[in-house]
Amino acid sequence: DSLTRIKEVQPEIGSFLAINEEGARKKAKELEQKLNTSSERGLLAAIPAGVKDNLCTEGITTTCASQLLSNYQPIYNATVVEKLLSSDAIIMGKTNMDEFAMGSSNENSSFHPVKNPWDITRVPGGSSGGSAAAVATGAVTFALGSDTGGSIRQPAAFCGVVGLKPTYGRVSRFGLVAFASSLDQVGPVTQTVEDAAYVLQTIAGHDESDSTSVAKEVPDYLSALTGEIKGLKVAVPREMLGDGIDPAVREQIEKAVKQLEELGAHISEVSLPNLEYAVATYYILAPAEASSNLARFDGIRYGVRQGKNLLDIYEQSRSNGFGPEVKRRIMLGTYALSSGYYDAYYVKAQKARTLIKQDFDHIFANHDVIVGPTAPTTAYRIGEKISDPLTMYLDDLCTIPINLAGLPAISVPAGLANGLPVGLQIIGKAFAEETVLRVAHAYE
Ligand code: GLN
Repeated sequence: DSLTRIKEVQPEIGSFLAINEEGARKKAKELEQKLNTSSERGLLAAIPAGVKDNLCTEGITTTCASQLLSNYQPIYNATVVEKLLSSDAIIMGKTNMDEFAMGSSNENSSFHPVKNPWDITRVPGGSSGGSAAAVATGAVTFALGSDTGGSIRQPAAFCGVVGLKPTYGRVSRFGLVAFASSLDQVGPVTQTVEDAAYVLQTIAGHDESDSTSVAKEVPDYLSALTGEIKGLKVAVPREMLGDGIDPAVREQIEKAVKQLEELGAHISEVSLPNLEYAVATYYILAPAEASSNLARFDGIRYGVRQGKNLLDIYEQSRSNGFGPEVKRRIMLGTYALSSGYYDAYYVKAQKARTLIKQDFDHIFANHDVIVGPTAPTTAYRIGEKISDPLTMYLDDLCTIPINLAGLPAISVPAGLANGLPVGLQIIGKAFAEETVLRVAHAYE
């Protein structure tokens, strides 16, 4: 069962920060009784699930992989967690991540890194690396992740599983510890596209507790999986297959595009002229929002408190509680928002964001989906890029623009390059998760 498998792989892979053994057993017992006495069963009945450790779970530590929150036990559940529980899923544990979801390799977890199940000398991707590795090892059937600039899709690509980032506003962020509130979305990491549809069905929908969640009806995602994509218009942006992409990855993506064509889709090459500004734009906006969101971790309201008087508590709790990448982001963000630099950086980045979004609008005026690689490389070695944050930031080229535009996108396994999994990214119009799932399912 799931618990046995978790314990078997945890020492080597390190996907989990907490294992909810007691809670899972209790839930399983309750469920058994419920199923014995009634024919009603939730959509995810008895399915073992992982939950990223930046989603609040009542009575279970929620650390964001940070020392600062190492003892934090929320008194409430995130809306998505509440929805999993009421669909009868069993929460097996909290999955490892980069601290406060900042990173692409899971090396920024302040507890321990996660290793890629395909090759344990390599990173699983990030920041939802624990979720992706937990699904890839079969420790859980699915896991929730969060995606601010690629954190669901890129680890899914690196671990050979499926990862879906819904449209901004499709899924409630209530109880998700905020990184960059205008970009963050919760979504599923699964083994199959069908499973992704099941989980999205469960977690999507309007939530009064999240003012950015959208009051739009949730369609039947499962009935979208028809296997039929004849006549569908698929755009391939040339900037996503350019020089920065590993040739072995590009080859797999070109094969995938051929396969879509054989399935009856119409393929055309398009351009996203402002794509080259996406990484720079994101690395102003995301740290700016993070610097503001993380101000609440002052040693008073949450987590570990160090120091004697008030200023001392702020300084020591934050100096000792946050890791180096989080501090780097807070400094970058504070700088970009400071008076005198605000117009030059923050306002400029907001304008660039609009241009990037317009690039997508133009393409979607006459295409159904956009496809390309999820990441420019396959999983790299642990330690290979950690001392060079800029290179790691640049690797987010293919995922970041989708968050800036608020669009839905999925990463599905697209064969191997250099013996490691490649992810095909399928991007849709806002709230067109059905189309994204349909194409992914037909391709898979
Ligand atoms: N890798 C990106 C970053 O470091 C994206 C992270 C995310 O989506 N949470 O910010």
